[in-house]
Amino acid sequence: MKVLAMQGHYGRALELDLCAPCHLVWFDSIEGAHLAGPSLLALVGEMAEAQALPHTALKPTLGCMRCGGALRTVHNPSRFGSSLQLECAQRHGAWQSFGQFLQQKGLVRPMSSADRHRALQRDGALHCVNCGGGIHQNDTVCSWCGSVPAVVDVALLALALDPEGATRQHAVHRKRGEAGSLSCAACGAAQPADGGWACTSCGATLTAPGLAEAHRQVSALGPALAAHAQRPAAHVVQERLARQQPALDRQRSRAREMQAEADARRHGGPLPSQERQDPLADWLQGAAGELLSALARALRRWWQR
Ligand SMILES: [Zn+2]
Ligand SMILES: [Zn+2]
Ligand SMILES: [Zn+2]
Ligand SMILES: [Zn+2]
Repeated sequence: MKVLAMQGHYGRALELDLCAPCHLVWFDSIEGAHLAGPSLLALVGEMAEAQALPHTALKPTLGCMRCGGALRTVHNPSRFGSSLQLECAQRHGAWQSFGQFLQQKGLVRPMSSADRHRALQRDGALHCVNCGGGIHQNDTVCSWCGSVPAVVDVALLALALDPEGATRQHAVHRKRGEAGSLSCAACGAAQPADGGWACTSCGATLTAPGLAEAHRQVSALGPALAAHAQRPAAHVVQERLARQQPALDRQRSRAREMQAEADARRHGGPLPSQERQDPLADWLQGAAGELLSALARALRRWWQR
Protein backbone atom coordinates (compact mmCIF):
# COMPACT_ATOMS: atom_id res chain seq x y z
CA MET A 1 0.00 0.00 0.00
CA LYS A 2 1.34 3.39 -0.94
CA VAL A 3 0.16 6.51 0.90
CA LEU A 4 -0.09 9.52 -1.42
CA ALA A 5 -0.08 12.98 0.16
CA MET A 6 -2.27 15.05 -2.14
CA GLN A 7 -3.87 18.46 -2.30
CA GLY A 8 -7.53 19.14 -2.84
CA HIS A 9 -9.05 22.38 -4.01
CA TYR A 10 -7.97 25.49 -2.06
CA GLY A 11 -4.81 23.68 -0.90
CA ARG A 12 -6.67 21.28 1.44
CA ALA A 13 -4.33 18.39 2.36
CA LEU A 14 -5.68 14.88 1.85
CA GLU A 15 -4.32 11.37 1.77
CA LEU A 16 -5.05 8.60 -0.70
CA ASP A 17 -3.94 4.99 -0.41
CA LEU A 18 -2.98 3.24 -3.62
CA CYS A 19 -2.66 -0.53 -3.90
CA ALA A 20 -0.54 -1.02 -7.04
CA PRO A 21 -1.03 -4.79 -7.67
CA CYS A 22 -4.81 -4.53 -7.10
CA HIS A 23 -5.08 -1.34 -9.19
CA LEU A 24 -7.22 0.27 -6.51
CA VAL A 25 -7.29 3.65 -4.78
CA TRP A 26 -8.86 4.33 -1.39
CA PHE A 27 -10.79 7.59 -0.88
CA ASP A 28 -11.73 8.66 2.66
CA SER A 29 -14.73 10.47 1.25
CA ILE A 30 -17.42 8.41 -0.46
CA GLU A 31 -17.84 11.12 -3.08
CA GLY A 32 -14.18 10.72 -4.08
CA ALA A 33 -11.53 13.37 -3.83
CA HIS A 34 -11.64 16.69 -5.62
CA LEU A 35 -7.95 16.92 -6.40
CA ALA A 36 -6.06 20.03 -7.40
CA GLY A 37 -4.39 19.85 -10.85
CA PRO A 38 -0.86 18.90 -9.72
CA SER A 39 -2.23 16.13 -7.46
CA LEU A 40 -4.52 14.71 -10.16
CA LEU A 41 -1.54 14.64 -12.53
CA ALA A 42 0.57 12.85 -9.87
CA LEU A 43 -2.22 10.32 -9.24
CA VAL A 44 -2.60 9.53 -12.95
CA GLY A 45 1.21 9.06 -13.07
CA GLU A 46 1.10 6.66 -10.09
CA MET A 47 -1.71 4.72 -11.75
CA ALA A 48 0.17 4.47 -15.04
CA GLU A 49 3.27 3.25 -13.17
CA ALA A 50 1.26 0.62 -11.25
CA GLN A 51 0.05 -0.84 -14.55
CA ALA A 52 3.54 -2.28 -15.06
CA LEU A 53 2.65 -4.78 -12.28
CA PRO A 54 0.55 -7.87 -13.05
CA HIS A 55 -3.01 -7.56 -11.76
CA THR A 56 -3.94 -9.28 -8.49
CA ALA A 57 -7.57 -10.41 -8.47
CA LEU A 58 -9.70 -8.80 -5.77
CA LYS A 59 -9.65 -10.88 -2.60
CA PRO A 60 -13.04 -11.61 -1.06
CA THR A 61 -11.44 -10.59 2.26
CA LEU A 62 -10.81 -7.04 1.02
CA GLY A 63 -12.16 -4.71 3.69
CA CYS A 64 -12.36 -1.07 4.68
CA MET A 65 -8.98 0.69 4.77
CA ARG A 66 -9.89 2.29 8.12
CA CYS A 67 -11.94 -0.28 10.09
CA GLY A 68 -11.32 -3.49 8.13
CA GLY A 69 -15.08 -3.97 8.01
CA ALA A 70 -17.27 -5.27 5.21
CA LEU A 71 -17.69 -3.45 1.90
CA ARG A 72 -20.70 -3.07 -0.32
CA THR A 73 -20.78 -2.37 -4.04
CA VAL A 74 -22.29 1.00 -4.83
CA HIS A 75 -23.29 2.31 -8.24
CA ASN A 76 -22.69 6.04 -8.32
CA PRO A 77 -24.59 8.00 -10.86
CA SER A 78 -22.22 10.59 -12.32
CA ARG A 79 -22.52 13.02 -15.18
CA PHE A 80 -20.80 10.40 -17.32
CA GLY A 81 -22.96 7.40 -16.48
CA SER A 82 -22.93 5.03 -13.56
CA SER A 83 -19.60 4.22 -11.89
CA LEU A 84 -18.83 1.52 -9.37
CA GLN A 85 -17.09 1.57 -6.04
CA LEU A 86 -16.65 -0.60 -2.97
CA GLU A 87 -17.86 1.40 -0.02
CA CYS A 88 -17.34 0.74 3.72
CA ALA A 89 -20.68 -0.12 5.34
CA GLN A 90 -19.70 2.31 8.15
CA ARG A 91 -19.09 5.02 5.53
CA HIS A 92 -15.36 5.48 6.24
CA GLY A 93 -14.67 5.76 2.52
CA ALA A 94 -14.45 3.62 -0.60
CA TRP A 95 -12.15 1.68 -2.91
CA GLN A 96 -12.28 2.52 -6.57
CA SER A 97 -10.43 0.82 -9.42
CA PHE A 98 -8.27 3.07 -11.62
CA GLY A 99 -10.69 2.52 -14.50
CA GLN A 100 -13.71 3.41 -12.34
CA PHE A 101 -12.00 6.56 -11.08
CA LEU A 102 -11.26 7.69 -14.64
CA GLN A 103 -14.79 6.83 -15.73
CA GLN A 104 -16.37 8.77 -12.86
CA LYS A 105 -14.37 11.82 -13.93
CA GLY A 106 -15.52 11.31 -17.52
CA LEU A 107 -11.96 10.84 -18.80
CA VAL A 108 -12.41 7.55 -20.67
CA ARG A 109 -14.77 6.21 -23.29
CA PRO A 110 -15.33 2.61 -24.40
CA MET A 111 -12.86 1.40 -27.03
CA SER A 112 -14.67 1.22 -30.38
CA SER A 113 -13.80 -1.36 -33.02
CA ALA A 114 -12.14 1.44 -35.02
CA ASP A 115 -10.02 2.31 -31.94
CA ARG A 116 -9.03 -1.35 -31.57
CA HIS A 117 -8.10 -1.67 -35.22
CA ARG A 118 -6.02 1.51 -35.11
CA ALA A 119 -4.24 0.60 -31.84
CA LEU A 120 -3.40 -2.88 -33.16
CA GLN A 121 -2.01 -1.41 -36.37
CA ARG A 122 0.14 1.11 -34.51
CA ASP A 123 1.24 -0.83 -31.39
CA GLY A 124 0.52 -4.44 -32.30
CA ALA A 125 -1.35 -4.93 -29.00
CA LEU A 126 -4.28 -3.63 -26.92
CA HIS A 127 -4.01 -2.81 -23.23
CA CYS A 128 -6.51 -2.46 -20.40
CA VAL A 129 -6.98 1.12 -19.18
CA ASN A 130 -7.35 -0.17 -15.58
CA CYS A 131 -4.65 -2.83 -15.10
CA GLY A 132 -2.54 -2.45 -18.24
CA GLY A 133 -2.97 -6.15 -19.06
CA GLY A 134 -3.19 -7.38 -22.65
CA ILE A 135 -6.64 -7.45 -24.29
CA HIS A 136 -7.67 -9.49 -27.33
CA GLN A 137 -9.27 -7.72 -30.26
CA ASN A 138 -12.80 -8.93 -29.51
CA ASP A 139 -12.73 -8.93 -25.68
CA THR A 140 -15.70 -7.07 -24.18
CA VAL A 141 -14.04 -7.11 -20.75
CA CYS A 142 -10.40 -7.40 -19.68
CA SER A 143 -9.70 -11.05 -18.83
CA TRP A 144 -7.35 -9.96 -15.99
CA CYS A 145 -9.45 -7.42 -14.09
CA GLY A 146 -12.90 -7.38 -15.70
CA SER A 147 -12.77 -3.72 -16.78
CA VAL A 148 -14.42 -2.57 -19.99
CA PRO A 149 -11.72 -1.75 -22.59
CA ALA A 150 -11.51 2.02 -22.95
CA VAL A 151 -9.44 4.84 -24.40
CA VAL A 152 -8.40 7.98 -22.50
CA ASP A 153 -9.72 11.31 -23.75
CA VAL A 154 -6.52 13.35 -23.52
CA ALA A 155 -8.31 16.61 -24.23
CA LEU A 156 -10.73 16.12 -21.32
CA LEU A 157 -7.88 14.96 -19.05
CA ALA A 158 -6.04 18.21 -19.79
CA LEU A 159 -9.23 20.12 -18.98
CA ALA A 160 -9.72 18.20 -15.69
CA LEU A 161 -6.13 19.03 -14.70
CA ASP A 162 -6.64 22.70 -15.39
CA PRO A 163 -10.34 23.61 -15.22
CA GLU A 164 -9.47 27.32 -14.86
CA GLY A 165 -7.49 27.39 -18.07
CA ALA A 166 -4.24 28.66 -16.50
CA THR A 167 -2.27 26.71 -19.11
CA ARG A 168 -4.74 27.42 -21.92
CA GLN A 169 -2.06 28.45 -24.39
CA HIS A 170 -0.35 25.04 -24.03
CA ALA A 171 -0.27 22.74 -27.07
CA VAL A 172 -1.93 19.83 -25.23
CA HIS A 173 -5.12 21.92 -25.00
CA ARG A 174 -5.46 21.91 -28.75
CA LYS A 175 -8.36 19.56 -28.56
CA ARG A 176 -11.69 18.82 -30.01
CA GLY A 177 -14.30 21.23 -28.68
CA GLU A 178 -17.04 18.92 -27.49
CA ALA A 179 -16.93 15.21 -26.78
CA GLY A 180 -18.02 13.38 -29.90
CA SER A 181 -17.78 16.36 -32.21
CA LEU A 182 -16.05 15.59 -35.44
CA SER A 183 -13.89 18.66 -35.92
CA CYS A 184 -10.61 19.69 -34.35
CA ALA A 185 -10.93 22.65 -31.96
CA ALA A 186 -7.35 23.70 -32.61
CA CYS A 187 -7.61 24.07 -36.37
CA GLY A 188 -11.28 23.38 -37.12
CA ALA A 189 -10.46 20.59 -39.58
CA ALA A 190 -13.19 17.95 -40.04
CA GLN A 191 -12.20 14.53 -38.70
CA PRO A 192 -13.01 11.13 -40.19
CA ALA A 193 -16.07 9.45 -38.63
CA ASP A 194 -14.01 6.67 -37.01
CA GLY A 195 -11.85 9.27 -35.23
CA GLY A 196 -8.13 9.08 -34.67
CA TRP A 197 -5.54 9.53 -31.93
CA ALA A 198 -4.59 12.90 -33.34
CA CYS A 199 -6.08 15.57 -35.59
CA THR A 200 -5.47 14.57 -39.21
CA SER A 201 -4.68 18.17 -40.08
CA CYS A 202 -2.69 19.75 -37.21
CA GLY A 203 -1.62 16.71 -35.19
CA ALA A 204 -3.23 17.79 -31.85
CA THR A 205 -3.76 14.78 -29.56
CA LEU A 206 -7.39 13.67 -29.23
CA THR A 207 -7.33 10.30 -27.48
CA ALA A 208 -4.78 7.74 -26.25
CA PRO A 209 -5.22 3.96 -26.09
CA GLY A 210 -3.49 3.69 -22.69
CA LEU A 211 -3.04 5.57 -19.41
CA ALA A 212 0.77 5.76 -19.65
CA GLU A 213 0.55 7.41 -23.07
CA ALA A 214 -2.14 9.83 -21.86
CA HIS A 215 0.01 10.71 -18.85
CA ARG A 216 3.02 11.36 -21.06
CA GLN A 217 0.91 13.70 -23.18
CA VAL A 218 -0.34 15.83 -20.26
CA SER A 219 2.75 15.70 -18.04
CA ALA A 220 4.11 18.67 -20.00
CA LEU A 221 1.51 20.71 -18.09
CA GLY A 222 3.11 19.78 -14.73
CA PRO A 223 5.39 22.81 -14.14
CA ALA A 224 2.72 25.30 -15.27
CA LEU A 225 0.09 23.62 -13.03
CA ALA A 226 2.43 23.74 -10.01
CA ALA A 227 3.20 27.41 -10.66
CA HIS A 228 -0.53 28.13 -10.99
CA ALA A 229 -1.27 26.35 -7.67
CA GLN A 230 1.36 28.57 -5.99
CA ARG A 231 0.31 31.81 -7.62
CA PRO A 232 -2.74 31.94 -9.89
CA ALA A 233 -2.38 33.85 -13.15
CA ALA A 234 -3.99 37.31 -13.30
CA HIS A 235 -6.69 36.30 -15.80
CA VAL A 236 -7.68 33.38 -13.53
CA VAL A 237 -7.95 35.62 -10.44
CA GLN A 238 -10.16 37.98 -12.45
CA GLU A 239 -12.42 35.11 -13.57
CA ARG A 240 -12.68 33.79 -9.98
CA LEU A 241 -13.77 37.23 -8.74
CA ALA A 242 -16.30 37.52 -11.54
CA ARG A 243 -17.75 34.12 -10.58
CA GLN A 244 -18.09 35.21 -6.92
CA GLN A 245 -19.78 38.53 -7.79
CA PRO A 246 -23.41 37.25 -7.87
CA ALA A 247 -22.99 35.69 -4.39
CA LEU A 248 -21.46 38.92 -3.05
CA ASP A 249 -24.36 40.92 -4.52
CA ARG A 250 -26.87 38.57 -2.87
CA GLN A 251 -25.11 38.92 0.50
CA ARG A 252 -25.11 42.71 0.18
CA SER A 253 -28.81 42.92 -0.65
CA ARG A 254 -29.65 40.55 2.25
CA ALA A 255 -27.64 42.79 4.62
CA ARG A 256 -29.61 45.81 3.35
CA GLU A 257 -32.92 44.01 4.01
CA MET A 258 -31.87 43.11 7.56
CA GLN A 259 -30.82 46.70 8.23
CA ALA A 260 -34.20 47.96 6.98
CA GLU A 261 -36.04 45.51 9.26
CA ALA A 262 -33.98 46.62 12.27
CA ASP A 263 -34.66 50.30 11.49
CA ALA A 264 -38.39 49.70 11.14
CA ARG A 265 -38.44 47.98 14.54
CA ARG A 266 -36.55 50.82 16.21
CA HIS A 267 -38.89 53.47 14.75
CA GLY A 268 -42.05 51.71 15.86
CA GLY A 269 -42.81 50.17 12.51
CA PRO A 270 -44.64 46.84 12.25
CA LEU A 271 -43.00 44.24 14.50
CA PRO A 272 -42.20 40.72 13.34
CA SER A 273 -45.06 38.37 14.23
CA GLN A 274 -43.32 36.47 17.05
CA GLU A 275 -43.07 39.67 19.11
CA ARG A 276 -46.70 40.70 18.66
CA GLN A 277 -48.66 40.63 21.96
CA ASP A 278 -51.19 37.90 22.43
CA PRO A 279 -54.54 38.93 24.12
CA LEU A 280 -54.65 35.82 26.31
CA ALA A 281 -51.07 36.48 27.54
CA ASP A 282 -52.07 40.10 28.25
CA TRP A 283 -55.09 38.98 30.30
CA LEU A 284 -53.05 36.38 32.25
CA GLN A 285 -50.33 38.94 33.00
CA GLY A 286 -52.97 41.42 34.15
CA ALA A 287 -54.72 38.81 36.30
CA ALA A 288 -51.44 37.70 37.89
CA GLY A 289 -50.55 41.34 38.56
CA GLU A 290 -53.94 41.98 40.25
CA LEU A 291 -53.53 38.86 42.36
CA LEU A 292 -50.02 39.96 43.46
CA SER A 293 -51.12 43.47 44.38
CA ALA A 294 -54.10 42.08 46.32
CA LEU A 295 -51.68 39.82 48.21
CA ALA A 296 -49.34 42.77 48.88
CA ARG A 297 -52.29 44.87 50.20
CA ALA A 298 -53.31 42.01 52.53
CA LEU A 299 -49.74 41.62 53.82
CA ARG A 300 -49.43 45.35 54.40
CA ARG A 301 -52.67 45.35 56.40
CA TRP A 302 -51.44 42.38 58.44
CA TRP A 303 -48.13 44.20 59.22
CA GLN A 304 -49.86 47.40 60.20
CA ARG A 305 -52.02 45.64 62.76
ZN1 LIG B 1 -4.12 -4.81 -3.03
ZN1 LIG C 1 -14.82 1.32 7.63
ZN1 LIG D 1 -7.57 -5.09 -16.84
ZN1 LIG E 1 -6.40 20.10 -35.85
